Amino acid sequence: MSMKELIEYWQKQKIITDKQVLEAFKKVKRENFIPKNLKDYAYLDKPLPIGFGQTISQPTTIAIMTQALELKPGMKVLEIGTGSGYQAAILACIVGNKREKGKAGKVISIEIIPELTEYAKENLKKEKITNTKVFHSDGSLGYKKEAPYDRIIVTAACPKIPKSLLKQLKNNGILVAPVGYPSQNMMKIKKDKTGKQTTTENLGEFIFVPLTGKYGWK
Ligand code: SAM
Repeated sequence: MSMKELIEYWQKQKIITDKQVLEAFKKVKRENFIPKNLKDYAYLDKPLPIGFGQTISQPTTIAIMTQALELKPGMKVLEIGTGSGYQAAILACIVGNKREKGKAGKVISIEIIPELTEYAKENLKKEKITNTKVFHSDGSLGYKKEAPYDRIIVTAACPKIPKSLLKQLKNNGILVAPVGYPSQNMMKIKKDKTGKQTTTENLGEFIFVPLTGKYGWK
């Protein structure tokens, strides 16, 4: 299946209806975010290995999580688990590239494996994404320096939603994260304008690699 066919399938089945999400998947080339020897598999709707026991997530999973964030151009987004940088690129595309006037949103992405931090930076460069900053750090603590965030996405399985992340989420913010073991429920949490956690929605069952670090799995 090509990315075009996958996008058509998402639209037909009404899995993804947010046009800006569909546009971002048309723009960002997944082949730039996977090892060279796997290029032939770039457009399979499957997770693929990227080394160090980690994976680039399945496109449908990335699309569902991205849509759940209800992104708008100009927002500041925190991603925990940069991996290949592909999810960060999709987010960056939607919140707006700095070169596009009036859409100066940005993505802060945190990766705990130093080699993958560098790998993601190179991949983002290949895609000419300039509004994403990737840092090597323990993302289970969030990233205080750039907080607060309009949106937070965790792309590794959490034992529970780290409190540090909820603290760094703005009022009216949305956080999406897979929670549990061995499979995960994709949780979408909304804060209201006073900062109270208002709704928690379960978007279904998924499988992720574990979150490590202070508030990850021991
Ligand atoms: N979003 C990625 C992409 O688009 O390729 C896929 C992420 S992969 C499923 C999960 C990533 O989370 C791995 O690269 C892993 O090293 C990272 N990770 C796990 N625990 C972490 C932590 N505490 N802080 C930051 N990154 C973490």
